[in-house]
Amino acid sequence: MIDRELAEKIAACVKCGSCRAVCTLYPERRTEVNVARGKIALLESAMAGEVGLPACGAIPLGEERDAAVREALADCLLCGRCERNCPNQVAVEEILVAGRTRFADKLGLPVWKRILFDEVLPSARALNAVRAAGNAAQHLLRKMPTESGLHYRFPDVAGLHGRTLPALPPIGFVASLGKDEARAGEVMLFPGCVFDLVMPEIGRDSYETLKAAWGEVTVSRDAACCGLPALASGDRAGAMKAISKNLVAMRAAAPRSIVFPCGSCLKMFRRDLLNVIPTDHPLRDAAEWVAERCVDYATSILDSPLVRILVPAPAAFGAGSVGWHDPCHLSGTLGRGEAGRELLERAVGRGFGEMKGTDRCCGYGGTFNARDYPTSARIGENKISLAIQGGTSTIVTACSGCILQLRDMAARVSRQTRVRHLAQVVRGLLPA
Ligand code: SF4
Ligand code: SF4
Ligand code: SF4
Repeated sequence: MIDRELAEKIAACVKCGSCRAVCTLYPERRTEVNVARGKIALLESAMAGEVGLPACGAIPLGEERDAAVREALADCLLCGRCERNCPNQVAVEEILVAGRTRFADKLGLPVWKRILFDEVLPSARALNAVRAAGNAAQHLLRKMPTESGLHYRFPDVAGLHGRTLPALPPIGFVASLGKDEARAGEVMLFPGCVFDLVMPEIGRDSYETLKAAWGEVTVSRDAACCGLPALASGDRAGAMKAISKNLVAMRAAAPRSIVFPCGSCLKMFRRDLLNVIPTDHPLRDAAEWVAERCVDYATSILDSPLVRILVPAPAAFGAGSVGWHDPCHLSGTLGRGEAGRELLERAVGRGFGEMKGTDRCCGYGGTFNARDYPTSARIGENKISLAIQGGTSTIVTACSGCILQLRDMAARVSRQTRVRHLAQVVRGLLPA
C-alpha cells in the first residue's frame, strides 16, 4: 500500500476509543497501545517522523522508536473485533498489516521467519519434509495421551509451556491420495497446510464429504500454505510466493468452485489476495477469477443435494451439548458463520445448542500464539470455561488455527470437552 493510501485509511480513525471496549487483548494488557486506536496513533506518529515532522514525544526516536512501534503492531490477534465494531469503519486490519510490512521492510525479519516464509511454507515438498521430521522427533518425546490418545503434551521446558499438540502423522492427506484419485471434478478442495499435514484426518473427512456431495473432487498436488502467516508478519514477498503457486494450480484446474475447510485460508483467498496482488500484476486476472469461486465448506455442503439426506443422530449427542465456535476470520471478517451454524444444526438436530461466548476469539491469532503463549492460553482457557458453563461439551468449528488452539486449551481445562471440525460431524452422518 502506498503512503498516501495508508495515510487516508489512518485518517479515518477519529480516536473515539470505541475499539477499546471490544478488544480481545485489552482485558489482558490494559494499555492504550494494545487497542486499535493506540496502534494507529503510533503508526501515524512513526510515519510523520519518517517524513521529518515531529514524532510523538512519548516514543523514542530512530531505530528504537521503530522497534517500539513494530512491537506494538505485532502485539495483536488480528481478530478484527475492533474493525467490526468501529463506527467509522476504519480498515484496522489492513492498516496494521501495512504497518507490519513497513517495519519488516525497514528492519528485516528474524532469520527463522525468512526461512519459514521463503522456503518452507510456499513449498509442498518442504512442508512434507518438516512434517516427516516432526513425526520422527515426536517419537523421541515422552508421550502423554489426551482423551483422544493422539496428542503429545510437551514438557514445561524450552518455552513450550506444556503445550498439547497433535501427533504429526507419518503421511499427509494429499500424499495419501491414490495416483488417479482427486484428479478431476468441478469442485476443488484446498485443504490448507494444517488439514493436509498436521490433521490429515480432517483433510480426508472434508474430501470424502465433498465427494458425497458433488461427485468427483479435485485436489492440487502442489498446494502449499495460503500465504496468510507471511502476510500477517509483513512479509509480502513470502506471501506472494505462496499465493502464486496456489493461483497457478487453481487456475489450471479451472474448477466451478474452490472449497475451504479452513476459514483463515478462505479469508486469504477471498479478501487479502486482491489487496496483495497489484492491479497490473500478471496474476491479477487469475486472482480475480479464483477469488470469485472460493467458498466455505458449510456453504458448499448446504448448496449440495447431500444436505437433504444427512440424518441427524440425536442419540449421539445430549440435547444442547454441541456448540458452534465462530472463527474470527470465517464468521467475523467474511460473515459466513451462519452457514456453519445452520449445517451443524441440521446435522445434530436437538444436540445443537448456542455456545456461550460463541463469537469470542479463541486466542490463537496465528503468530500471536507463538509470540505470547501464556496470554494466548489465558484467552483460550476462558473461552473453554465459558463454553462448559453454558453446557457445551462438544465444540464444532471450521478453522485450523481455532481447532489447534481449542484442543490445546481443552487439554488444559477439561479433558471432557471435545473439539471437532464440521466435516468430521458430517462424515459421521453420511448414509451407509
Ligand atoms: S473505534 Fe474506529 S475510529 Fe474509533 S478509535 Fe477505534 S479505530 Fe479509531
Ligand atoms: S484485532 Fe483484535 S486484538 Fe487486535 S486491536 Fe483489534 S480487537 Fe484488539
Ligand atoms: S491459514 Fe493456516 S492452515 Fe490455512 S494454509 Fe495458511 S497456515 Fe495453512
